Amino acid sequence: IAYWTSSNPCYDGSAVAPRHPMKAFVYCDYGQADVLKLEDVEKPAPAADEVLVKVRAAAVNPLDWHYMRGTPYFMRMQTGLRRPKVIRLGVDFAGTVEATGSDVTQFKPGDAVFGGKTGAFAQYVVVRQDRVVSKPDNLSFEQAASVPIAAITALQSLRDRGKVQPGQKVLINGASGGVGTFAVQIAKSLGAQVTGVCSTRNVDLVRSLGADQVIDYKKQDYTVADQRYDVIVDNVGNRSLSENRRVLAENGKYILVGGGGPDDHRWIGPMGRVAHAYAASTFGSQELGMFLAQMKKEDLVVLRDLLAAGKVKPVIDRRYDFSDLPVAIRYLEEGHARGKVVIAVE
Ligand code: NDP
Repeated sequence: IAYWTSSNPCYDGSAVAPRHPMKAFVYCDYGQADVLKLEDVEKPAPAADEVLVKVRAAAVNPLDWHYMRGTPYFMRMQTGLRRPKVIRLGVDFAGTVEATGSDVTQFKPGDAVFGGKTGAFAQYVVVRQDRVVSKPDNLSFEQAASVPIAAITALQSLRDRGKVQPGQKVLINGASGGVGTFAVQIAKSLGAQVTGVCSTRNVDLVRSLGADQVIDYKKQDYTVADQRYDVIVDNVGNRSLSENRRVLAENGKYILVGGGGPDDHRWIGPMGRVAHAYAASTFGSQELGMFLAQMKKEDLVVLRDLLAAGKVKPVIDRRYDFSDLPVAIRYLEEGHARGKVVIAVE
């Protein structure tokens, strides 16, 4: 959605009232969660290869507060230097198909679906049919909405970058968060021996997800141990590269998925570590690097099958009403969610 369209509520000239209004969260300036406004915007219509989905639930991800705050600052090269170019937020959603474009063959009105599309914090989204899959019957809309970004990140980092094999030792740092709760379960489904790192209050949760060992970071530093891991998925980025290498097997893979909080404007720490990782990866047999997930339909299908079979279960920490999205984002920004934070949209 371009910033300057006339029906755009951020347009400070002659904003035109939407002809077919729906409620959506918009943000006209970067900042803390109070920049989010619930506005009437034009309800979208599906193009030929798109479906119109009535959103029933959405999930909040750190990506949302990164976009909302425009941090780390280098992101603004893409998202808009002074103000956000795209004023809609949210990606993960689940809901029911309301209408389909003329070329859509895979869905019909009434189908329950989930997927990822920018602008999900709204009553409706239009999404290409190759970005959405049917919702398993054993999942609620809120559970399904919690899946896309976090579970795809977990799946792709472990399977594609980590190339995890049965019997390998895998460590998940940040095992109790959105990505981590999926990563523990997916690593188990790949046959790995899993160690999860979390704080004292989350030890039982991480163990209940299938972790073979749990390290309580309040009591023990995972980088100070005799253990060696074949794959480390790091959702926190709070230890240096050399500290991680101490516990990485000779041919092991260190995968930096996340790091940095809302006030880390420059993100020098994790970025520096990535540069260091790539430099270091050209020497020696260990692979070290950053990972960026991609929303792919075939991976949503893999996840749907794992979810339908009960091999992976979403962990929902908190549920908020649609109008309380800013409260939900503030909570996620604290960095201590236990699983996923979801929004019920009516
Ligand atoms: P969450 O906000 O859900 O993670 C919060 C979790 O982190 C809490 O359970 C918390 O546990 C845990 N945590 C905080 N500090 C520590 C610590 N020192 N050691 C271990 N665990 C800790 O975030 P997500 O899981 O959704 O995302 C994780 C990171 O991955 C973020 O930085 C996000 O931006 C990034 N990300 C990257 C993607 C990519 O493509 N590269 C895609 C998706 C996310 P406790 O309360 O016990 O401290």
